[in-house]
Amino acid sequence: MKPTPLLQLEGLRVEFAGSAGRRVRAVRDVDLEIFEGETLGLVGESGCGKSTLGRTMLRVTEPTAGTIRYLGLDITTMRGTLFRQTRADLQMVFQDPFGSLNPRRKIADIVAEPLLRARGASKEEARKVVDDLLDQVGLGREAGARRPHEFSGGQRQRIGIARALAPSPRFVVADEPVSALDVSIQAQVINLLTDLIRERGLTMLFISHDLGVVRHIADRIAVMYLGQIIEIASRDDFFAGPAHPYGEALLSSVPALEKGPARERIELTGDLPDPADPPSGCTFHTRCRYAIDTCRTDPPALREIADGRQVRCHLPLIPLEGAT
Ligand code: SF4
Repeated sequence: MKPTPLLQLEGLRVEFAGSAGRRVRAVRDVDLEIFEGETLGLVGESGCGKSTLGRTMLRVTEPTAGTIRYLGLDITTMRGTLFRQTRADLQMVFQDPFGSLNPRRKIADIVAEPLLRARGASKEEARKVVDDLLDQVGLGREAGARRPHEFSGGQRQRIGIARALAPSPRFVVADEPVSALDVSIQAQVINLLTDLIRERGLTMLFISHDLGVVRHIADRIAVMYLGQIIEIASRDDFFAGPAHPYGEALLSSVPALEKGPARERIELTGDLPDPADPPSGCTFHTRCRYAIDTCRTDPPALREIADGRQVRCHLPLIPLEGAT
């Protein structure tokens, strides 16, 4: 029997007002399920809508249409105390650790804030949680008396992680959490996140443009292009061979871990098209080396091609299950 998703999106859409009165469709009718205990890697080029999707799941950004369910409960328009309490279960680690920390406040107050506000913890309870968390993220409890500017980028991201974990969430969106850090620090922060996820049994959406990083942390992969999910697969299936030509091109630029012949490098020509004016048919057809006439006119649906594997393409690169 299929498990109940922890988080479930149905027809989620986010539109913004663009220049010259045009509507920018940043997220286009996304259906997605995230299951308890898993880390789902959300990948795609910069500007494809993945950060907007992550923020909208937590209603940091409000959806234009569609439904968000948490443990089966519709939270799309929930308000008041119930939403504040529910939202405490859903936290975010931001890309820019410095920009997301109030420079005037002490670290202990920054980390304690979501716990006091959303969980109604006493100051005494909050102080103990904060001390333990600062120890766990490797900064030590003494860090609580200092302010953000006294820390390096990697240390500030550890503070961001401690703040996200303070209210004991069940689900965390990590939005490019290491992309602003030096390469030498990235592995440390990824290892810290991996350990904390395992110890706390957390469910996570890990957003990144870097497939090499996602490979280390994700159980499943969802690929996004121009606001749509175009492929969903287990990590092993995806890295063994994407079913969508866009995933194939993204993966071709990542060094293979396995021995064997080197992958053919596939150059993606052109930039991501304008989300206010997406191409007709399959929105990837302007950059796809396999495009046929049908691709220019008929938008492909996201369809299941094997157990747990979905692709939005008329000509998937792996055979349909059961096809001869
Ligand atoms: Fe390429 Fe056509 Fe598949 Fe789109 S539907 S990815 S254009 S083959």
